[in-house]
Amino acid sequence: MLFVQEMGGFVFHWVASFFIANKLVGEKTQKGRLHSLKDFYEKYPKHLSKGEIQKIRGAVQSAWFENKLDGSFKSESLAAQAFSDAINPISIEYGIEIGANIGYEALSNAYFLSDAVTSYSADSIDYQDYAFARVVGNRTAYVHTHGSPGGGYDDEHFSGHVQNFEGWNGGDIGFSQKFQINGYMASPSGRLYKFDYNGFKLAKSIPSREFITEVGR
Ligand SMILES: [Zn+2]
Repeated sequence: MLFVQEMGGFVFHWVASFFIANKLVGEKTQKGRLHSLKDFYEKYPKHLSKGEIQKIRGAVQSAWFENKLDGSFKSESLAAQAFSDAINPISIEYGIEIGANIGYEALSNAYFLSDAVTSYSADSIDYQDYAFARVVGNRTAYVHTHGSPGGGYDDEHFSGHVQNFEGWNGGDIGFSQKFQINGYMASPSGRLYKFDYNGFKLAKSIPSREFITEVGR
């Protein structure tokens, strides 16, 4: 499976068991689409009405095509910026985190966004929801929003910071560590931040906070 190669060898068993358990083998996702209403009501607490879910899905889908998020990007950060510009306002309006994977395809020397992912939650996106969204080429990063002020785990900051490369606190930084990819976060104030995973890995003993930069500044 292309998907398994993207994710790196060590998560193979987890990914394989997830796909078998959920009978998703061979199923295709559609660009710009969030999980169906059916998926939502089977997986998540029913704190949003079906009407609200339909509005969120419609808004994401429209923004996706209007902003050409299904196209290619010259750099990883341009892909993250385009996602942030188009999707962060929706995330803020509805108070839920929305994310996507970013992949690099050598053949076209370009970056691509996966489908949007969400767990319809104010403070997190489930790992399995990222696994659901396939990406073109190799996954190099993930991008996510923090929704509205007061909704996220740590609104303007990445969650899960650690003192050095050997530490692990889960959260946003933990997600980068687990999958060995860069992280991008669009904040409630409309800023976009990057966590440089490779710089952090090379430095070994410098705190993860030192590897956060604001994109476009
Ligand atoms: Zn986060």
